[in-house]
Parts: sequence; structure tokens; C-alpha cells
Amino acid sequence: MTKHELPCASLIPEDRFGPAPRRATRQVRIGNVVVGGDAPVVVQSMTNTDTADVAATTKQVAELWRAGSEMVRITVNTPEAASAVPKIVDRLLMMGVEVPIIGDFHYNGHQLLANEPACAEALAKYRINPGNVGFGKKKDLQFAQLIEFAIKYGKPVRIGANWGSLDQALATQLMDENHLRAEPWEAARVLREALIRSALDSAHRALEIGLPADRIVLSCKVSGVQELISVYRDLATRSDFALHLGLTEAGIGSKGIVASCAALGVLLQQGIGDTIRISLTPEPGAPRTHEVVVAQELLQTMGLRAFTPMVTACPGCGRTTSEFFQELAKTVQEHVRAKMPEWKIKHPGAENLTLAVMGCVVNGPGESRHANIGISLPGTGEAPAAPVFIDGEKKVTLRGENIAREFVAIIDDYVERKYDRPVEAG
Ligand code: SF4
Repeated sequence: MTKHELPCASLIPEDRFGPAPRRATRQVRIGNVVVGGDAPVVVQSMTNTDTADVAATTKQVAELWRAGSEMVRITVNTPEAASAVPKIVDRLLMMGVEVPIIGDFHYNGHQLLANEPACAEALAKYRINPGNVGFGKKKDLQFAQLIEFAIKYGKPVRIGANWGSLDQALATQLMDENHLRAEPWEAARVLREALIRSALDSAHRALEIGLPADRIVLSCKVSGVQELISVYRDLATRSDFALHLGLTEAGIGSKGIVASCAALGVLLQQGIGDTIRISLTPEPGAPRTHEVVVAQELLQTMGLRAFTPMVTACPGCGRTTSEFFQELAKTVQEHVRAKMPEWKIKHPGAENLTLAVMGCVVNGPGESRHANIGISLPGTGEAPAAPVFIDGEKKVTLRGENIAREFVAIIDDYVERKYDRPVEAG
């Protein structure tokens, strides 16, 4: 087939036509959230405050939760951080923020959990990095102690291997074994295998110690898109543990977003992944919540979940030199995102609303008709009128200075009428 020929329909993989069914993984309960099995893919995030600063960490967890993070991970790295954890959880509960808090442990987790029982109790899950549990002979012992705390306090764990903290002893062992192969693998494949084996061997060790399989989540994070896809495809065929996905150290700005979405999009499309995190480096001054918005938008644009009404907008071109439609698209997206917490309670289903803001008559009316509510603004040289389409029919034409305000009012009115919460039978 030349590059100009399209494959016939029968050769196109089925998953091009829609998300593949989720892989059958084990379900794990983490606080008030269920991940794995047929549960929806869960969005999680992580704070970047000093956990020992109770006020700052509580504030950021609440912000991440309000933005839509369904679980929040915090670093637990010092005795001060461990003793802050129960205070943070208490404050969040007093604020009505019931989000599972996950403790991220490295090197000294066994000591912190032993010395701070209230921390061990308050956390909803422990994240253990098998490459950073301890050194030499202490490694197995300290890993076992962490698992025994999870058993004692009835908590699930995430065994999270990471490219940046690969178990060096295991990597060396696999390299040595590789030299004995008749046809040795390339080094990158051996290192991928070391990462996967680190997670799987640790999970089986946890099972031997007595932690049930439905309290184990696995992850194997790397920072390259193709490597991540390769690692998780392999991991998914070799176990049925629930999987947390994330491209580690994804980077800043559009690079971080594009790389994360490219990698996670491919895996989610293949039914792989039960929770996701977008590990963005925040732009200076940008809110930490941006990573939550990106994670939600990834899942929603793939048709896997709905969180907030989505706005379709054209990119603009020489047919509309006005920036008005760009501003309107931004205003509408920000408005519906801001309204969603209220709509979620009063107008459930509003998250499925589709909106279109288009720049001229070329594609404006057509795209607007496909949305629940669409507006086609006048392009250069067109009459100064903006027809509004509701459920495919032209209902009203807006003119003058107040188009944005009137269009937003139309959206609010539509949501109140269409997603009117049914009166519960008494
Ligand atoms: S809808 Fe009109 S303004 Fe927008 S990109 Fe298409 S031709 Fe350009």
C-alpha cells in the first residue's frame, strides 16, 4: 500500500472507532473512591506545598479537589510532615472536602508510619516506590514493614516504580542475565523489563506478606512517550492489578500537556489505565490546578467521562479579523467551568452540554447546529448579526454590544430547563 492509499475498513483496528473496553483489572477502594474494574478512570493530582505547613497544604488540597481531583497525593517525608497529615485531613473534613489523601513515602516511610499512628490511620493509601524503600539488606525488611502497616490499618498501596529511581540491584541482575542470552536484548528493553519486574515482584511480595490483591495498585512511570506506552502495554498483559498512569516529569507548558496526552491517550484508547495524573511542571505563577483541568479534558475529549460542558471553537482565519469570537469562546469556557460545581448539585447532566462558538458563516451555522447551543459570529464583511442555534434550530439572532452577556444567559437558561433535577419520589 502506498502512503496515499487508505486501508480498507476491514483492516482498520476496531479501537479506531471508539475506546476499547477497559481491561479487566481488580477493583480497589481508596477512601470514598473506587478504581479499577469497570469503575470510571479517576483523576488524581499531587500537592507541591511543604506538607508540614498544614494551612498551605490544606488550602492546596481543597483547591485541587474543587478543580476536580478525585484523589490527592501529598509528600510525607519528615516527622513534621507525618504529624501534619491527620491535622490536614481533619481540616479538610471540617471544610466538607472528602477527598482521599495519599501519602507519598520514600526511604523512611516505615519509620514515619511506626512513629505516627495517626498519620497511618488518616491516609487513604500509601504510595511506595520499590526503588526508594531502602538500601542493601534493609530494603526487603523495610518494604515488608510498609506492607504490614497497610495490612494493620486496612489501607491499599500503590507500588509505584519510576524510571528515575529504578531498583539498581535488579537492573544490574537483569543486565547480567541478558549477557547470557543467545540474542541479547538492547539495553533499553532490559531497563524497561527491570522497571516492570520491580513493580510486579514487589506486588507479589506484598501478596506473600498478606496484603490482598484488591488493595494493590501498580504504576511504572517513565518520561518518554513511546517507552511509557511500551511499558504499560506489557504491564497490562502480565497482571490484573489496577493501574495508575502518568508520564513522569512530563515538562512545562504545551510540551508537558502534549507528551502526557499523547502517551495516556494511546493507553486509555486500548483500555489500559484506572487512574491518571498529568505531571505538569507549573508555569511560574500558574495554578497547580491546571494539571487537573488537563486530566479532565483528556478524559472528556476521548469520550471516557464528562466533567464540564465542552466548547467547540474554530481557530479563526482571515475571514474574521475580530478577536471578539476568541474572547467569547474563552468567556463561555470559563463561565461553564465556574458554574459546574453548582450545576453538579442542582442540574446533574449539565456536564454533557455541548457548545460551539464560531467565527464566521463558512462553518459557523453547521458546527453550531451540531452542538446543544451554538453561535455563529459575523465574519469580515458579513452583516453584524450572530444567529444562535439551540438543539439544531436557529432560535434567535444577537446584535450589538451585549452579545457575550446574552449568550451566557441563554446557556444558563438552557441548563436550568434541560437539566432540571427530577423531584425525588417521597
Ligand atoms: S469558521 Fe470562519 S472564521 Fe472560523 S476558521 Fe472557519 S472560515 Fe475561519
